[in-house]
Amino acid sequence: MDKQFDSFGRLDNRNRHHVSSAVAVRDIQNASSDRYLPFGNGRSYGDSCHNNKGVLADMRGQNNIISFDRKTGLLTAEPGVFLHEIIDYCAPSGWFLPVTPGTRFVTLGGAVANDVHGKNHHVRGTFGSHVEALTLVRSDGVHRLTPDDLTGLFQATIGGMGLTGMIARVTLRMMKVSSLDVTEKLTPFQTLDEYFAQAEQADADNEYAVAWLDQLSGERGILMTANHADNGNFDTGSHTAKLKVPFNLPFNALNHLSLKAFNTAFYLAKKRKSGQVLTSNYQGFFYPLDAVENWNRLYGPRGLFQHQSAIPADRAIDTIRLMLYASQRAGQASFLTVLKRFGAIKSPGLLSFPQPGYTLTLDFPNRGEKTLALLAELDRLTVQAGGRVNPYKDARMSAETFAASFPNWERLEAHRDPKIMSDFWRRTAQKLPKNGIANNSNDLIQPSETPSV
Ligand SMILES: Cc1cc2nc3c(=O)[nH]c(=O)nc-3n(C[C@H](O)[C@H](O)[C@H](O)COP(=O)(O)OP(=O)(O)OC[C@H]3O[C@@H](n4cnc5c(N)ncnc54)[C@H](O)[C@@H]3O)c2cc1C
Repeated sequence: MDKQFDSFGRLDNRNRHHVSSAVAVRDIQNASSDRYLPFGNGRSYGDSCHNNKGVLADMRGQNNIISFDRKTGLLTAEPGVFLHEIIDYCAPSGWFLPVTPGTRFVTLGGAVANDVHGKNHHVRGTFGSHVEALTLVRSDGVHRLTPDDLTGLFQATIGGMGLTGMIARVTLRMMKVSSLDVTEKLTPFQTLDEYFAQAEQADADNEYAVAWLDQLSGERGILMTANHADNGNFDTGSHTAKLKVPFNLPFNALNHLSLKAFNTAFYLAKKRKSGQVLTSNYQGFFYPLDAVENWNRLYGPRGLFQHQSAIPADRAIDTIRLMLYASQRAGQASFLTVLKRFGAIKSPGLLSFPQPGYTLTLDFPNRGEKTLALLAELDRLTVQAGGRVNPYKDARMSAETFAASFPNWERLEAHRDPKIMSDFWRRTAQKLPKNGIANNSNDLIQPSETPSV
């Protein structure tokens, strides 16, 4: 795999300095303020994994699995190990990741630092809920942390976006499963009301549940639910993508026509299989996008924005409908639209993204000001509903939107290593007044002050 330092949205292709993590760890005490940021594999979409005024510490060189107890499922590994390497190592003895994001090309350190979530948030919470211990290297020394840590540093590091120090080792409790394969059921729906009527029960009945929306055809979509199969298949398969986008396209290949064709074909193919119980390979179910290497290049040289919001349940249906309507009205339907219910399991993380309710994820090609105006409108709707915008998918939210999304951001600032900084933190938290003045979200965002489409 090529070493690259872009983030997934490819919005900022400037060269930036980087060093191996070994160099950064050796030098962090003597470094100037804001010098470093740990870098995983750049699967964050925006600038939370960048530090253009400083140096990225490439953690991928620290990639050893230290120990794995096949009886208890306790895995200890270095942060640069990829999730697919963990699967390869643990699956033969019947263990799988307790929580997995929609790509397996993510490092263990990156998964902890963003406290990622998966399709089973309702039963397992976030990745950080399964972390039993961490070793953190900071400019003030090496810290061994566990969830009962009274200093708050463990909690700040889970979902702390790399700002509290460099995670050097993680102990994770894996999940025992009956197979890597899943038995999957596909349920088409025509309206959001139909989806919301069944989402809670779908969660109650299944380990995994997620919905895909065909945004170009109104509100129709497919609810996909699954549980691990009983067939004992632990073949992890190849991690090489069958298809790839071989070079950076000079144009955005995802226009209205290609979007419409793709979404309609996907909907009809899934609908045809509805009502059956399918046995699906784990890669196809958890990581469908990994099947095409560098698919983000389809968005052309200007890259893509992802907008992910979490909306409290009582405001979800109205707000999500307004958000879909706003993007249709702006003539910018999302290529890939995903809707999921978040459960109530509280993460140990201080700035963890999920909150009980629903989460909507939208992908947009970067069309400049027009797209930025739409994204600001989506932020406004999110905040107005008491929700939050995901920082590790973001490349442009205002400091005020960030503060309204995470009113406790100052507690992370208090734990930030002064030698560490990210472009995201510089752009948001560093612009906010301190000592609680920014903590009242109602004072910050007035609907009329935000540009609307
Ligand atoms: C196709 C696709 C699907 C996705 N699906 C999901 C999903 O379902 N759910 C979800 O939650 N996310 C999802 N994501 C986002 C992705 O899982 C997260 O952004 C993930 O954290 C990226 O990990 P990374 O190893 O690439 O780290 P990077 O993106 O390089 O870095 C992530 C953060 O971790 C910090 N960091 C990295 N290594 C360390 C370390 N050793 N010590 C301290 N800090 C460190 C960085 O400073 C940065 O702030 C998806 C992304 C893609 C591209």
